[in-house]
Amino acid sequence: MTDAAPGKLVYPFPEPPAHGEATEVADGILWLRLPLPMALDHVNVYALDDGDSWTVVDTGFASRKSRGVWEAAMAGPLGGKPVARVLVTHHHPDHIGLAGWFQADHGAELVTTRTAWLFARMLQLDEQDRPLPETVAYWRACGMAPDILTQRMNERPFNFADMLAPMPLGFTRIREGDTFRAGGRDWDVRIGNGHAPEHATLWSRDGELVIAGDQLLPSISPNIGTYATEPEADPVSEWLEACERLSAFATPGQLVLPGHKLPFTGLPLRMRQLIENHHGALRRLERHLDTPATAADCFQPLFLREIRAGEYGLALVEAMAHCLHLWHVGRATREVTGEGAWMWQTIR
Ligand SMILES: [Zn+2]
Repeated sequence: MTDAAPGKLVYPFPEPPAHGEATEVADGILWLRLPLPMALDHVNVYALDDGDSWTVVDTGFASRKSRGVWEAAMAGPLGGKPVARVLVTHHHPDHIGLAGWFQADHGAELVTTRTAWLFARMLQLDEQDRPLPETVAYWRACGMAPDILTQRMNERPFNFADMLAPMPLGFTRIREGDTFRAGGRDWDVRIGNGHAPEHATLWSRDGELVIAGDQLLPSISPNIGTYATEPEADPVSEWLEACERLSAFATPGQLVLPGHKLPFTGLPLRMRQLIENHHGALRRLERHLDTPATAADCFQPLFLREIRAGEYGLALVEAMAHCLHLWHVGRATREVTGEGAWMWQTIR
């Protein structure tokens, strides 16, 4: 794998494993897939062979289907050995969803960052039948289309509790600079940000493997969103900072094991792309905002394609994050309308 050209991404395993099956991507490292009920229809998880047990990285949504896939995998490619540890890269439900199930039903230890654990457990307890007033105000601030706003105000919102197995109290913390032993290797823990706060990535000391979660994805750009929990957050800055910092550790030969899509080599190039994607989007946004607009009116310059109904929410928080970034760095002003929407305008 070390002969991968520095100038392109290579996918050494072009066929993903079927549900309940596994592909060995390196000595003692299995790649498995779980289904997701959305446009992005899968999440990658990895099982690291610890001899008499497994460490599993990420878990999939909590659903009967996911549990069935895991049970098939444990009886099949995992050979009936117990899952003793679950390492979770970040707090999003497709990654942490079944962590509580592994803890409660399988006696596994949960290993993750403090922020990931706090966020997941906090959001799990924050169950709502209708959106909170703060969430509605935030949607208005984004300039959400009135018909979508009315519909969302009258339906059950996205709830973490619907996607997560109950999380028992307690976890083991990993943080920047830690070394973690699993799968017969020592891994350096390096922390990313921007897609999710305090997102763990693992870099094998032998220089061969990177367990990337959603911090380093091939072929799709991770969603960078600002949410009602922190409505003035600037995750684009955090994303760019993390990409620049992690780039220093990237080599062309590392096999990257991402949270979605396919394992790949060519990380230095991919990091440059992940950074440049946002600089390009910000330049287009800046031109677009010569005429004042809300975040909801910025989809075309940012995404360069039609946004379908199922993607509207993610597109909206991503558009807001980019408008906020221009404002935070002094490239745009904002003014609130009578309806509570922020109108952004480029400073010329
Ligand atoms: Zn994900």
